[in-house]
Amino acid sequence: MKWGLIGASNIAKQFMINAINSQQGNKVAAVLSGDETRGRAFADDYGIEWATTDIDELLEDQTIEAVYISTTNEKHYPQAMKAIAAGKHVMCEKPLAINIEHACEMVSAAASANVVFATNHHLRNAGSHLKIKELIDQGRVGDVQAIRIGHAVYLPSNLHSWRINNPQVGGGSILDQVVHDADTVRFHLQEDPQEVVAIERSESLGKDVEDSVMSVWQMPSGILVHTHAGYTVRHAGTSYEVHGTEGSIFARGVMTQQPVGEIHLRRENQTEVQEFSNHDLYIRSMRLFMDAVNNGGSPAATGVDGIKSLAVALAVKEAATTGHRVKVNYGET
Ligand code: NDP
Repeated sequence: MKWGLIGASNIAKQFMINAINSQQGNKVAAVLSGDETRGRAFADDYGIEWATTDIDELLEDQTIEAVYISTTNEKHYPQAMKAIAAGKHVMCEKPLAINIEHACEMVSAAASANVVFATNHHLRNAGSHLKIKELIDQGRVGDVQAIRIGHAVYLPSNLHSWRINNPQVGGGSILDQVVHDADTVRFHLQEDPQEVVAIERSESLGKDVEDSVMSVWQMPSGILVHTHAGYTVRHAGTSYEVHGTEGSIFARGVMTQQPVGEIHLRRENQTEVQEFSNHDLYIRSMRLFMDAVNNGGSPAATGVDGIKSLAVALAVKEAATTGHRVKVNYGET
């Protein structure tokens, strides 16, 4: 199957071109960029047949059956709607959109057009997070009481652009990182956050957007979740802890794009190291996408998963902005 890249992005070149080309019979054939010279150079660098600045030209190519959208966040909605109308399968980056109505529209348009639509939430594809889910499902921590996520990192300097200074295109750590926290918690607990409180800060990198946020969520079961996301913390590393009545999981270095990290399960006075698979997260995401296209399977994260992670992030933003406790609005999902 031939793919078109919508967006000559860093994530495409770092992970997704490889993930697509690694699937048998799949190839990235075209790239859309807003800038002709950059698009051409991008195509040359990554062995892509052609580059265009015209989305209609890309979508009119009947040999292209799927697109991967990784432009800045405000463009996902109009580009996905066009791709769906052209009958293409869509792998869309998170956040799906910058408001919930658009995200719902995208997912329902894809369902009506009978095309596969997925959200590229990589973390639920990680061996580490699959192991954490397995430990929870096996009852190794008993009843889950709380989850604590450490997702405050130092944003790499090559990403010091729209993320830190442009609210109009969906910049800021909440839409960037908290969506991943939300998806991962939903994946582990199989329930959707209900209410949130939050405080944000623009500490040093962020201009007109937050570069640091702490939030607490209440799940319908009563479980509490705390997340700390941000772009300014250099030395903490990431962490994901699940605390239950029978044990606690301490995972370090697992809120990342690489198949790395370590997991310890502590029960009574014993601590066990947990081994997990080190497969590439994005290749697994793409393998499940192709299974959905070819065999009617489900992508790792569906469009509805993308709506829900966005809904939580938007509630966190609202709570941080207003100072109020906010009920998560999942729209018409
Ligand atoms: P980039 O900043 O690399 O790319 C976004 C857009 O910026 C591109 O579409 C491109 O426009 C433009 N751009 C890129 N590089 C340059 C440059 N050197 N000069 C001028 N313009 C440039 O973004 P990311 O790859 O970091 O993120 C893209 C999307 O992917 C976002 O939605 C983000 O949230 C998501 N993402 C997801 C991750 C995941 O693990 N699921 C990880 C990282 C990002 P054009 O296409 O017009 O050339």
